[in-house]
Amino acid sequence: SLPPSQNSLTERPAMRNHQGPQTLAIHAGESPDPGTGASSPPLHMSSTFCVDAPAGFSAHDLGSESPFLYARWSNPTVDMFERKIAALDRAEACLATASGMAAASAIFFTFLSAGDHVVVSDVSYAGVAELARETLPRLGIQVTLVDLSDPQNLANALRPNTKLVHAETPVNPITRLTDLSAIAALTHQAGALLSCDCTFASPMGQRATALGVDLVMHSATKYIGGHGDALGGTISGRAALIKQLRVEAGIHHGGILSPFNAWLIARGAATLPLRMRAHQSGALEVARWLETHPAVTRVLYPGLPSHPQYDLAQRQMLNSSGMIAFQVGSAEQGRALAQTMIEKLDMVHYAVSLGHHRSLIFWMETAALLASSFRLEGAQAEGYRAFAGDGIFRLSVGLEDPPDIIADLGRALG
Ligand SMILES: *Cc1c(COP(=O)(O)O)cnc(C)c1O
Repeated sequence: SLPPSQNSLTERPAMRNHQGPQTLAIHAGESPDPGTGASSPPLHMSSTFCVDAPAGFSAHDLGSESPFLYARWSNPTVDMFERKIAALDRAEACLATASGMAAASAIFFTFLSAGDHVVVSDVSYAGVAELARETLPRLGIQVTLVDLSDPQNLANALRPNTKLVHAETPVNPITRLTDLSAIAALTHQAGALLSCDCTFASPMGQRATALGVDLVMHSATKYIGGHGDALGGTISGRAALIKQLRVEAGIHHGGILSPFNAWLIARGAATLPLRMRAHQSGALEVARWLETHPAVTRVLYPGLPSHPQYDLAQRQMLNSSGMIAFQVGSAEQGRALAQTMIEKLDMVHYAVSLGHHRSLIFWMETAALLASSFRLEGAQAEGYRAFAGDGIFRLSVGLEDPPDIIADLGRALG
């Protein structure tokens, strides 16, 4: 069902009968502006709101029917965006944050306290990896890094004081997958919450809430916004959990999304289902071509039968997304090709980030990443190398014509 409306701009009743993702992406959270009849959602650049009755001034006075008061609590444009993402994630509610990292830190700092234990995927977005390794232990939070692609590793790591398990699937940058329903069952048996960074998959890639994820996190900077012009983050889940996040992380920590970015990202989100289909078919075409290229030694794409977890991808993923990792051999060969790409690519941008309409590529050396962000040794380092070799090119296949992407990459690959 659609999330409960939080304010006077309520969903039109007819909307409740339409549940298809394309319909939800366009209409959820929106209704014609009651003041002007504007068909498109207005941009409310207002930090404060006039109220028609005396109201409490504490975050704890926030109710589900509270009027807009101050934009750190809620803002009509941000609220529209939150209801759209909650609908796409098939969740009761959503909190929008200033960035994907603000979403990750909101989850950690709302649901963890000194003395608690958290299990974090041993490979994750680099910023999350560093936050888990540096900041959480400093605050007295026990962190165990686990390769969650094998649920048995999680079973071995859970403790009586485990409060949260943080997964990511497909994981940035190597596209390794985690079986969400298997780890949700273990996490819930242990009385903990499961959060999952679903940025690579987008809300179209997997039904994370239906698979048991309590807190579905996205960097909205990536596929949801889709145009490379605005930072944002989202967390979707049950209304009570999102309310806790809104009070603690939104109102108290303050990392909320600007109405302008909410408006831009919501405009991108309206075409998310269509874009993800195009990202998927473009990526499949590019991945198949890469597999035949003599300079490429390994291609990792969940939509290819050669992916080591293709069966899980088929079972869990509704869309295999546009993210490909590929290897070309030694670190020296990778570094040299990266330099050639910088000089020779004329359409694909050699740049970080992903999920944009433009294709983006970036080389990541394994030794450097293992030493800096991931700090893995032994079996966990080997587990990373099993996917990444000495280094990978992370390719975010954009929405250009696949033959043009292939021709551009071909110029650099030779
Ligand atoms: C980019 C990214 C983040 C961080 O998001 P920002 O919007 O850049 O803060 C988190 N997780 C994943 C998987 C990402 O790709």
